[in-house]
Amino acid sequence: MASSNIAVTHSELGVVQADVVEARRISPHFVRLTLSGEALAGWRHLGFDQWFRLAVPTTDRTRFDNLADTFDMGGYLRYLTLPKSTRPVIRNYTVREYRPELRELDIDFVVHGDDGVAGPWAASLPLGATVGLIDQGCGYRHVEADDVVLVGDESALPAVVGILRDLPRDVRGHAVIEVPDLADAQPVDGPDGVPVHWVVREPGDRVGARALEHLRELPPFTGTVSAFAAGESKLATGARRHLVNERGVPKANIDFCGYWRA
Ligand SMILES: Cc1cc2nc3c(=O)[nH]c(=O)nc-3n(C[C@H](O)[C@H](O)[C@H](O)COP(=O)(O)OP(=O)(O)OC[C@H]3O[C@@H](n4cnc5c(N)ncnc54)[C@H](O)[C@@H]3O)c2cc1C
Repeated sequence: MASSNIAVTHSELGVVQADVVEARRISPHFVRLTLSGEALAGWRHLGFDQWFRLAVPTTDRTRFDNLADTFDMGGYLRYLTLPKSTRPVIRNYTVREYRPELRELDIDFVVHGDDGVAGPWAASLPLGATVGLIDQGCGYRHVEADDVVLVGDESALPAVVGILRDLPRDVRGHAVIEVPDLADAQPVDGPDGVPVHWVVREPGDRVGARALEHLRELPPFTGTVSAFAAGESKLATGARRHLVNERGVPKANIDFCGYWRA
C-alpha cells in the first residue's frame, strides 16, 4: 500500500475461498463481481470500509490452500516462497456488500485499462473463477465528532459508500467522490446530513485534483471532525494535509490510505 495510517485487524478465519457467480459491467468504469461460497458463512462482517487481500487466480493451476491464514509480514514472506507458477496475485479490495443469508459478497472493481492483474481480470467477467479472501478489517475508525468528512476517488467509492451506509443516521458532514464519468456515480444510502458531492474528472486532469479542489471549497467546519481520505496516493495525502494544516483537524481524527499510485 502507498502512504497510510490505517491499522490492520486480522481475523481468525484465514483464507476464505469463494466462486464468482455473477459478473457484470455496472457503469463505464466499474465491474461488479458477486462471490459465493459456503466458507463465506463465517465471514467477520464489520461493514464500513472493511477490506481484504484478494487472491486472484492467474492460471487454472492457481492454488489458495497453501496461503498463510493471516497476511501479516510472516504471511507475506511465506507467500513469496510459494512457486510462482501456482501462487495467486494478491491485491486489496473493499467489501461492497455482504449478504450472509445467501453467503454472497460483492466487489466493485475499477476497470482501469490493460495494465495490472486484478482490474483486467475483473473486466474479463470471470464467471466461475475461484478466488481467496483474507480479511483485514476496517481502515476508518469513526470518532465522535460534529462533522464527518469523507474523500475518495473511484477506487475508494466502495469504501466511502460503505462508510455512509453504516454511519449513524444523525451524523452530518460531507462526502466527496471523484469519478471519471458521472455515469459511474452510484445510489447512496447514507445519513441525510451528509450530502455526496460527485466530482467528475475532465480529460487531462490529474486523478484526485478535482476532489481536492472541491474539499478546499467546502464551507468551514463548525466543530470537531472525523475524516477519511483514500484513493490515489496524492489525493489521500493531499486531503490529509489540507485537513490538518488549513482546517485544524487533529491527525488522530483522520484515517487516510493511498489505495494506488498513478
Ligand atoms: C484498503 C484498500 C481497498 C481498496 N478497495 C478497492 C476497491 O474496492 N475497488 C477497486 O477498484 N480498487 C480498490 N483498491 C485499489 C486497488 O487495490 C488498486 O487499484 C490495485 O492497484 C489494482 O490492482 P491491479 O492488479 O488492477 O493493478 P496494479 O498491478 O496494482 O497496477 C498496474 C497499473 O495500473 C495502475 N492502476 C492501479 N489501480 C488503478 C486505478 N484504480 N485507476 C487507474 N490506474 C490504476 C497503476 O498505477 C499501475 O500503473 C483498494 C486498495 C486498498 C489499499
